[in-house]
Formats: sequence, structure tokens, C-alpha cells
Amino acid sequence: VQGDEALRKDAVEQATRHLVQPWPYAGSAGAEARTLIGEGDGIYITDDAGHRLIDGPAGMWCTNIGHRREEMAQVMYEQAMQLSYNTPWYTMNAPSAELARRIADHAPGDLSHVFFTTGGSSAVETALRFMQFFNNVRGRADKKLILSRGGAYHGSTYLSASLNGRPRDRDWMDGADDLVVKLSSPDPFRRPKSLSVEGFCDALVEEFRSTVERIGAERIGAFVGEPVQASGGVILPPNGYLKRIREICRANDILYVSDEVVTAFGRLGSVFASGDVFGLDPDMITFAKGVTSGYFPLGGVVISERLLEELRRSNHPDAMFAHGLTYTSHPIGCAVALKNFDILENGLLAHTREVAPYFQSQLRTLEDLPLVGEVRGLGLMACVECVADRESKDPLELDKDVGKRIDAHCQELGLLVRPLINMCVMSPPLVITRSQIDDLVSILREGI
Ligand code: PLP
Repeated sequence: VQGDEALRKDAVEQATRHLVQPWPYAGSAGAEARTLIGEGDGIYITDDAGHRLIDGPAGMWCTNIGHRREEMAQVMYEQAMQLSYNTPWYTMNAPSAELARRIADHAPGDLSHVFFTTGGSSAVETALRFMQFFNNVRGRADKKLILSRGGAYHGSTYLSASLNGRPRDRDWMDGADDLVVKLSSPDPFRRPKSLSVEGFCDALVEEFRSTVERIGAERIGAFVGEPVQASGGVILPPNGYLKRIREICRANDILYVSDEVVTAFGRLGSVFASGDVFGLDPDMITFAKGVTSGYFPLGGVVISERLLEELRRSNHPDAMFAHGLTYTSHPIGCAVALKNFDILENGLLAHTREVAPYFQSQLRTLEDLPLVGEVRGLGLMACVECVADRESKDPLELDKDVGKRIDAHCQELGLLVRPLINMCVMSPPLVITRSQIDDLVSILREGI
């Protein structure tokens, strides 16, 4: 692709005047230079200057099957020509029913029913509204507080954003703070120096347990947690931590919501990581992104049969879950997701499991660079965390734009990075091959 200077000028000018981009600085509306992407193909995207870049973050952790898949375009076209939309209020469509059945087949425990949304934030929001409804119908109107953690990212709608635990997401924004209780991030790299990883795990579990005891289980409705905190910097909790939290939730009638918006649909080599990778059986799982690999906006919540059964047996079986989005169960989105499911099941999940150890081991070779404090990850998600000093692990003495600067260097060399202050996140499309992993790692090394 040749760079098209006129196209770029037009786009930049129009965006500057009229487009509000996500996460802009005050007053800028996001007008600061952002790379203009012209097209995508496989693991690559092409910028406005005609440079081909490896799509290191797979869009936003989402283009799992890779860009420009003809069968995806075809299924969108065919579904649009057959039925482009139907109201989900009092009609239904076949693709959403089949997709719900296939998702339930793969979900752990007794998770049996799916509510489809337009993305991850609306999935988390739906899970939380369902918890509120569930407790209202059961006559436990006081049981509504939500436990969340530092380092968490759960979305950009009001309630989902209120759970976010990254300081910069909350600094200038309001939230439903009276509904949310924050716990520590389960980040072993940043654990207190005095604690071993096992000791840190015990401390996290104790914090959880004592918080439930202090507030009272009768006031806590749900815990929401990513199995691997993604946008917090690919934070893998200590072994056994998630199961222990799950048990405390079970013992206290607190719904465990596993936010798999990033980890579901292949990123860790399975459809859902909660059960297959972490041995968990949550009460609800939220998903989005990889369910359509970004070809269509879709998300959802998988809900446990036990909860539905309890509602059926309640004193108010006619109470209405007054919750629905115009695009709930969108037929095109669900048809796209079914095709995406085929691709994952016909080899891509197996491929992911096969290349993931190579991806992780090659990225870990970067730990010999003085700037790199730790490389961590699982499956096809990883984070390179930079520190000023390996002993103190201090990121603060570093230029706060170090991630952005590494990204800028890498873009010149042919790789798009997801910079997070002092961290570089890598979560390429799952179709990546070993030799493409070599390219990615060698560019990242040079960029750093
Ligand atoms: N939950 C997690 C774990 C996420 O990473 C994200 C987005 O990155 C969301 C929820 C919100 O999803 P969306 O941006 O599709 O609304």
C-alpha cells in the first residue's frame, strides 16, 4: 500500500475538528497524533504512510482470528441479506439461539444461559444489574455492594467504570463509589518485599475474608474479577488465589463474576479460561472482544442455572428483569460469532496452545535488557514491564512516557505496541506463527 498523504491530511483535519477519541487529554478531544490505519491483513495492519506493522495488541485484545478473513465478510453479507435485525423484545432469531447453546456447551460448571450485549462494558453492567435484580427478587435488597480490585479494568459505562482500579482511570472521573469496595491488586511483581509469593497470596485471601467479615456478607452482592488482569498489565495472580476467593464467595452467597472480556475465545487457548485454565466455576462470566474477533460489536454474560432456578422458585417468579439493549442478540453479530467459533474450534485454539509457550519463552529473553524489570504472561498475552532500577523495581524515576516511546520506536521498525505508562503489552492475533513471533520479539528488543 502506498502512503496517501491527502487521505491522511483529510482524516487528521476532520478528526481534529469533529472527532472525540477515547482517552483524550482535556481540551484535545484526542487530536494528538494517532497512527491512521488504512487496512489489515492477518496479523498485520498498514499505517497511513504505507508501513506494514505487526498488530501487537490485536486491535484491543480482540482480532483473535486475524484481519481480512473472507469468510467473515461473507457471513456478514449473507446474514444482512437474510435478516439484518429483529427486535429482541418480543421476537427472536436463530443465530443467537445457536450461539447461546454453543457458548453454554463450553462454559464451566452449570453456566447455561447467555444474555448478549454490545461489548464488554455492557456485559459487566448486565451482570451487575442481574445481581441487583437477583437479590431484590430474593428479598435481599441490602445485598448489593460490589468487590473489585486495584489494577482492574471492567469498562467505560458508569457502573462498570466504577469498578476500575487503575488510578488514572479514576483520577478525573466520578463513579458509584458508594456501591464499590476496592481490594488490592493480586500483582506478585509489586508485592511487599517482606512477603514470598505464597505469603502474598495468603495476605490477599485474608484481606478478602476480613473485608467480607467487616462489611458483612449480607451487604455484599458480587465480586468481579478478571482471571488475568489485562489492562492493568497482564497480572497473573498467585497460584490458587482465584479458587480461594471463589470459595469465600460461595460460603458467603456472594456472586463470583469472572470478567473474561479479554481471556475468553482463545487468548489463553480455550473458549473460557475460568474453568479450563483456572479450574473455576463462577456464577457468571462476561465476554466480548474475541467472540467476534472485532468483526462486529458483541458481548454477553453467561449465567448459572442455579441462579435462574432460584429466581423460578422465589416468591416473585413474575418479577421482570427490566434490562435489554436494542442490539441484544443482534443477528449479524451472532452469525459472525458462530463463524468465528468455527475458526477457533477448527484448529485455532489448538494452534494457540501450541505457539503460546514459544511466544512466552521468546519474550522472556528480553529480561536481559537493563530497562526490563519483568516479562510475564500466559497464552498469547504478555507484558514487558520497564523499571528504572531492577532492585527497587521503581517505575517512577522513568520517563512516564517510556511505553509510548518504545511504541514509537517499534512502529518505525514494524510493530504496534500497546503502551501502558511503563509497560508494553503484547497480545497478537492468535494466528501468529513462530517466525512472526521471532519478528515481533526482535523488533521489541530493538525498540526497547
Ligand atoms: N472488561 C475487561 C476485562 C476489559 O479488558 C474491557 C475492555 O478492554 C472491558 C471489560 C470493556 O469492554 P468494552 O470496551 O468492549 O466495553
